[in-house]
Amino acid sequence: MKNTHAKKQTKRQVSGGKIIRLCVLFMIGIFSTAIALAQEKIEAGDPLNNTEIPNFYKCKLSDIEKEMDLVSTGQVKVIAISPSGLPVYAVYYGEKDNLHSQANYNSAVAARNPVFFAKKDSSTKPVVFFLGPVHGQEAEGIAGLVNLIHIAETGKDYRGNDWTSLKNKMEQCRVIIVPCGNPDGRKRCPYDSFVGLPTKIMTKYGQGTRKDGTSWGWPKAKSLHPMEGNVGILGAYFNDEGINMMHDDFFSPMAMETKAILEVARTEVPDITVSLHSHENVPRILPAAYVPWFMKERIDQLIRDLNKRYIEKGLPHVPAEWFGEPSVEDKSFPPRTSFNLISALHHVSGTMAFTFECSHGTVNEAKPVPIVTHADILDIQLNLYDEMLEYLLANRLLWE
Ligand SMILES: [Zn+2]
Repeated sequence: MKNTHAKKQTKRQVSGGKIIRLCVLFMIGIFSTAIALAQEKIEAGDPLNNTEIPNFYKCKLSDIEKEMDLVSTGQVKVIAISPSGLPVYAVYYGEKDNLHSQANYNSAVAARNPVFFAKKDSSTKPVVFFLGPVHGQEAEGIAGLVNLIHIAETGKDYRGNDWTSLKNKMEQCRVIIVPCGNPDGRKRCPYDSFVGLPTKIMTKYGQGTRKDGTSWGWPKAKSLHPMEGNVGILGAYFNDEGINMMHDDFFSPMAMETKAILEVARTEVPDITVSLHSHENVPRILPAAYVPWFMKERIDQLIRDLNKRYIEKGLPHVPAEWFGEPSVEDKSFPPRTSFNLISALHHVSGTMAFTFECSHGTVNEAKPVPIVTHADILDIQLNLYDEMLEYLLANRLLWE
């Protein structure tokens, strides 16, 4: 009886989602001229976009659109509309459990038990939140998550490789996948992949330039926020209103995308959450800042487990000497560690949140960086997802 009711409800939600999607697509039609103008052009002298991107590497917004049409066992929803009118999609797998919430997270913790926020006992499914790139040039996460959706639907990735074990783990959980957190940034980025391209090109179009043509670079790209005024190329880091969701104002969010991402965490209460990013270096999970010590230790364990897996799979990995204790933030002035989107995701929901940095596969004359192919990038992504699920299923924290 319970099951039949649940099935009916799921069906209704699916059709509701489709109606919302149709409305959104209509709105996109209206805004299409503006969107067409929104892409930054590749400047004269810069390398052209990669033309040798394999078909399995689904890293474009159009790939997400096509994948949304193929979802049948999951539910598709539009959780936000970007400033340029683009949808931010979320795909949900597994029925949502009733978590009997009676207080917000921090009040529940103050009452000495997160169960007052969400009753996540052994009768509820573990919840996993995969947040695709909020930095538009870091499309590696889109390629990974579109393949993950395909695995959830078929058990195989777009190369035809079998991932039944990953699919089985997903079926034991509620899984939320946001394939791209910043469609504006992705749309503006004129490169679909940086494999074989110089890091400085990725930086130029990713973090943007000033009016005089100089790159903002890291960390100066965070020194003007919203990024408006002295802007030549608006970097793919930002949405069309210049907001970098990693460093939004979390007590009064500026971007609808940020609000929607935090709302997913607040309402779904994920046990584990990854925010997918990329850099020129080896793939790795970054420790989270301003989260409790026990959570830092859990993330540290997962960092080590994932690195071990990358070694076993022959993928780029972190050298042993990089490992140490989780760190304490800013013991002395000046502060350099920010309370960022990862910290905020934890503090609205208690989730084990962290950043993952994939390798872009760029080249850099100044220092050695890992060489990766598109197939390596997909393996880096899918092995991360599998390791997260494996860790969670073996190490879940129950709130009861
Ligand atoms: Zn990033």
